[in-house]
Amino acid sequence: MSDPTSPVAGLATPYRTHTCGALRASDAGSPARLAGWVHRRRDHGQLIFIDLRDRHGLTQVVIDATDSPEAHEIASRARSEFVVTVAGEVARRLPGTENPRLPTGEIELRATEVTVLNEAKTPPFYINDPDAPIDETLRLKYRYLDIRREAMQRRLELRSRLVQAIREVHHASGFVEVETPNLIKSTPEGARDFIVPSRLQPGEVYALPQSPQQLKQLLMVAGVDRYFQIARCFRDEDLRGDRQPEFTQLDLEMSFVDEATVMDFVERMAIEVSRAVVPERTLLATPFQRFTYHEAMERFGSDKPDVRFAMELVDLAPEIRGTAADGAPASGFRVFDEALAGGGRVKAITVPGLGDAPRSRIDELTEAAKRFGARGLAHLSVEASGSVKGPIVKFLGEDLAERLAARAGAKPGDLVLIVADSSAVTNDVLGRLRAELGTQLGLADPDVLAYAWVHRFPMYQWDVENGRWDATHNPFSGVLPEDEVLLTTTSGDLAQPTPDDPAGRARAMQYDIVLNGWELGGGSVRIWRHDLLERSFALQGYSRERMQNMFGAMLEAFEYGAPPHGGIALGIDRWAALLAYQVNIREVMAFPKTQSGSDLMLDAPSEPDPAQLAELGLQFVGVPNRTG
Ligand code: ASP
Repeated sequence: MSDPTSPVAGLATPYRTHTCGALRASDAGSPARLAGWVHRRRDHGQLIFIDLRDRHGLTQVVIDATDSPEAHEIASRARSEFVVTVAGEVARRLPGTENPRLPTGEIELRATEVTVLNEAKTPPFYINDPDAPIDETLRLKYRYLDIRREAMQRRLELRSRLVQAIREVHHASGFVEVETPNLIKSTPEGARDFIVPSRLQPGEVYALPQSPQQLKQLLMVAGVDRYFQIARCFRDEDLRGDRQPEFTQLDLEMSFVDEATVMDFVERMAIEVSRAVVPERTLLATPFQRFTYHEAMERFGSDKPDVRFAMELVDLAPEIRGTAADGAPASGFRVFDEALAGGGRVKAITVPGLGDAPRSRIDELTEAAKRFGARGLAHLSVEASGSVKGPIVKFLGEDLAERLAARAGAKPGDLVLIVADSSAVTNDVLGRLRAELGTQLGLADPDVLAYAWVHRFPMYQWDVENGRWDATHNPFSGVLPEDEVLLTTTSGDLAQPTPDDPAGRARAMQYDIVLNGWELGGGSVRIWRHDLLERSFALQGYSRERMQNMFGAMLEAFEYGAPPHGGIALGIDRWAALLAYQVNIREVMAFPKTQSGSDLMLDAPSEPDPAQLAELGLQFVGVPNRTG
């Protein structure tokens, strides 16, 4: 008998006694009824075979014309994707015809009754062939058929397990799950709002939340202490592989915490969740590595480093500076010397095994470096004999070339790639080359999950255009306690920020969690003191009036006793995609949108009914007539 404790055992209904994945050799001789879709039908004249499919699996059904002429006749008319229910007796398959790849592969159902519950048109793509290429547009238009495919079913199941595991850890850790509204006032997260016009208050709009940021902070003022939510967020920005206009975040906030408390909890939660959802994957390094933003940029050229492989950035300046008695750079290669003399950097990465790369490969890498913003890319190849070659050796001399290669950690057979530019460009270009080469050369083990933290980002960056300090991450983030003084000693008029304000040096209590080179989430300990919050917003260029208009509720709430608090949000879509080995979050979303924000299945967005517009007092102006 099938295991009565199995979670699918309770799925029996009038249409089925078992699911299509349940029957085993131990069920042989028992009666059973199954229901599902015709995955494949093979007509052998006397015998018809139907592979019957539901989410739980496939079972082979055999209908014999001699035993059951009526069932045989109905089965002969069934086509792919017809919905049927079949009943009969479970039998062991004949020796030699078992299918070891199917959990039900030892048995078949000898059906004496076949009922077609519903017919189906021929689907626009093969549902029963996992390798058949399918046009992406068709997949999205007929998403309900796409989801019938096993790979999609497994990914949605994985996502469901992920959310379940998240809920379990939070409930066990004293969190309360609270739903916050979707019709709210703007909560800026650096993107455009989606707005919803109000019918009851004509001329006014709600904003859909870019995140529940303000609401969760208000819940802390309300004494909820530990909140979490699987929250839908909406951001009107251009789409990429890891972005959709609406997406789901694990959003959480905790009271009476510092940076370490939040990071420690999230780290433990991420480990428990990963172990529960994908126990077969290897977790790299627990506790997770923690880098300051500065260190991440120096070592990996990225604030979301993939730490599954090394290939770290190496500073070549000490060797180059040593070339002159007074410390002035005199390597003989003008590009290096000028970069250092001008306050820039000369840094390298060492690519294992590419030492004998042909000219065309070097050209490709140089093109990539230029695309990433460098003026050029220098290289040194270490030959098998250990001698260092490359077009710049004639400027550097063999001795310095060898010392640079040695400093970069290159071994015979390796290639050293060097960028000389401003600090920001040098780190960024090498960081991108590192990420690209790591994937191309298979240095990053796909089975490994490498979580890491990057924290202590600069709180502000100067916005030249608008003459203000923009928050690099969250406008509500607090700064490190030792940097608070930089906010309060801001020179001159608060309402007139200048690029020389000491606040520019303040480091935020901001932490990002990174997984395999993706930013999985970010959060911060917030400014919870009313005076500091006002100052921070002023630096960010908010006038008192605008501050009141946008964050009035929060500013007022902070006058009624706000506890120290902090939190984070993690992208559930990204997390599920990474756990499911996917590079596009669409693959773990049931009904995603296209690059241009369309739902091809529902045909959204679409023109509104004129009556709806009239009711809202709205009129489109300057929109080309789409029907004309
Ligand atoms: N609200 C932030 C975001 O959506 C996360 C946080 O700071 O908690 O990125």
